[in-house]
Amino acid sequence: MKISMVSEHASPLAALGGVDAGGQNVHVAALSLALARRGHSVRIYTRRDDPALPAVVPVGPGLDVVHVDAGPARVLPKDHLLPYMSELADGISADWGSAPPDVVHGHFWMSGVAALDAARRFDTQGYPVPVLQTFHALGTVKKRHQGTEDTSPPERTWLEPSVGRNADRIIATCSDEVFELKALGIPGHRISVAPCGVDLDLFGSAGPAEPRNRRWRIAAVGRLVPRKGIDLAVQAVALLAERGMNDVELLIVGGASDSAGLASDPEARRLLALARDLGVGDRVLLRGQVPREEMPAVLRSADAVVCTPWYEPFGIVPLEAMACGVPVVASAVGGLIDTVVHGKTGLHVPPKDPEALAKALAELLQDPGYATRLGAAGRQRARARYSWDRVAADTEKAYQSAVSRTAAAGQASLQPLGGAL
Ligand code: UDP
Repeated sequence: MKISMVSEHASPLAALGGVDAGGQNVHVAALSLALARRGHSVRIYTRRDDPALPAVVPVGPGLDVVHVDAGPARVLPKDHLLPYMSELADGISADWGSAPPDVVHGHFWMSGVAALDAARRFDTQGYPVPVLQTFHALGTVKKRHQGTEDTSPPERTWLEPSVGRNADRIIATCSDEVFELKALGIPGHRISVAPCGVDLDLFGSAGPAEPRNRRWRIAAVGRLVPRKGIDLAVQAVALLAERGMNDVELLIVGGASDSAGLASDPEARRLLALARDLGVGDRVLLRGQVPREEMPAVLRSADAVVCTPWYEPFGIVPLEAMACGVPVVASAVGGLIDTVVHGKTGLHVPPKDPEALAKALAELLQDPGYATRLGAAGRQRARARYSWDRVAADTEKAYQSAVSRTAAAGQASLQPLGGAL
């Protein structure tokens, strides 16, 4: 199949850990690579955010990244990109030329706007291109949790559901998202589920673990934004100290790659100030951005990985920790409800509950045998269910279903009025 991926802000070639660079970048890159391995020809369209970027970057056999001129060629917050989606659609349809793809797959709501726009131009010429959409995050959920802090453009309120209604098929990444999509009025029969995956060649239990400074280490990995709930891990370290477990360090990974960037990062400053106020400043280490290749050794160095966001569309970090055989303590929200099995591969805690988090961590740290069993079961679950090859196969099924429905609709429109002759 000839597949076009659209990922307006999240380039598969970007460094990870910044405010707008995380799971979506990983997802688009890994899914596209896996689809290319299955023999498909994939082109990923993303916005040019640097004038020096080449127009096309060949990534591997059957996979190219195309940088489209859409708005100024510099990094912009993703919430400022909507005005450039029609230019992105111009670039995509120009690249398609006279040979549109078999499917176009939008990632995040704004890419869906551009994908539908590009496809519509070919539809009117008699070449229907089925549009599939993965939202990665939903505005309704974000607004519910972030309220006035949500910086999404107001148009998201109506454009996102409209993308949901107009795309041929929606690919949700977890069961909680299916529920949210249905609440937006998208019928269940147009939704497929294909989760995010984990790179099992990179993330595994064998391999080095970086040294730690204390008896126990817990790690929290992700973009340094308040909704990731990393402050709860800081509070949990203080609560563990109150229970006499003083020899615990918390390693926080993510954010800027250099110390100047970290020093000026408001969330990094907030976390360090909180640690100081709670008397655990000497036990909280802020590492900054870690390159992907170094992530497994970091995860393996921890007794437990904490993922306690307020909400989480999917959450790849817990899968990476599970694949490394490290137990996860996760808030029971979004994708983490599907990936982490309470008492089997990790522990669930209610969101925004530092007491519950400290209790779960104490349970694991004080019973290394239990932690090892959970870690081993997590590794098994990650390997059995979340390889990118399996995710690509599920995604391919969704593509085929959209292609056959579009073909059937085309045939139906060719039937003479009044039925058989
Ligand atoms: N990540 C990384 N380096 C960092 C911070 C994060 O490589 O310094 C990666 C992390 O390993 C994971 C992704 O960024 O693959 C974050 O994805 P997740 O779905 O957990 O969160 P999102 O950023 O999508 O909210």
